[in-house]
Amino acid sequence: MPRMIHIRMILLSLALFAALPSAHAQVRVVASIKPVHSLVAAVMQGAGKPELIVQGGGSPHTYTLRPSDARALQNAKVVVWMGENLERFLHGPVKALAGKAAVVELADVAGLTTHSFREGGVWEKHGHGKQEEDHNHSHGQKHDHSHDHARIDNHMWVDPVNAKAFVSAIAAALVAADPANAELYRKNAKATQARLDALLLEMKNELEPAKKRGFIVFHDSFQYLEKRFGLNGVGSISLGDARAPGARRLREIRAKVKASGAVCVFSEPQFEPRLVSTVLEGSSARSGVLDPLGAKIENGPDLYFAMMRNNTRSLRACLAG
Ligand SMILES: [Zn+2]
Repeated sequence: MPRMIHIRMILLSLALFAALPSAHAQVRVVASIKPVHSLVAAVMQGAGKPELIVQGGGSPHTYTLRPSDARALQNAKVVVWMGENLERFLHGPVKALAGKAAVVELADVAGLTTHSFREGGVWEKHGHGKQEEDHNHSHGQKHDHSHDHARIDNHMWVDPVNAKAFVSAIAAALVAADPANAELYRKNAKATQARLDALLLEMKNELEPAKKRGFIVFHDSFQYLEKRFGLNGVGSISLGDARAPGARRLREIRAKVKASGAVCVFSEPQFEPRLVSTVLEGSSARSGVLDPLGAKIENGPDLYFAMMRNNTRSLRACLAG
């Protein structure tokens, strides 16, 4: 008798399990970099977790695709990335491997605020290295650069207003790929956009006293934040590969910091503090750290918000302190 009940229970629970919507396999989604992954994770909460390509302190400018990344792209139903001006390494693989996936190129989303790369004067050419030159010749077919993609700075996510537009595009792609969870995606997207609105307001208040003072960054990845909040970024020193510059280069950089009148020089987490102090030698500028990727923050829906708050705090502490 007890044994019969036991078997019946098993059969019943199996039947129930099969009937539940949660029993359907989670949709496979791949995101390129940590802040993008975070926004995707926020929209997917309760339906599954996206995979991430560029982990930890890796740079999207210099990343090389691993075999496991290639497999993830092949199995993906949705791929979310910024675009070829940022994750250049994905340009070929997205076409070659993720042929069956819906690809969301966030740099092309409607309603974004966009800016061109800053070059010349105190802004150094962005650290894409040699790949920049081969870019237009390396892949057989010509692309249509009708909207002048090539000049657009793709570090757009550091503006929460742009992040809201990303969330809409991410939700639309998820709804199309996985209609069973459409309601959940829409609800999550709304909640994430409300959080982004609150973040925007908080940042406006926090950054108000940091507005006028000039600062320099190690790599020009913050212009969307600067322009959104009216900050005064005056130049970049482009130490793209995190290696110590030679004596001559160091003299040039020091002269540049001095001439710019910057009160702060911001490095990124992957640079050694010693390098920062070397650059600042003989200058009265203070140093701080800005992190466009959330390198040391745990992946997930909260990463984006933690990263933006850390950067806000750094800017305020160094510029208004
Ligand atoms: Zn960059």
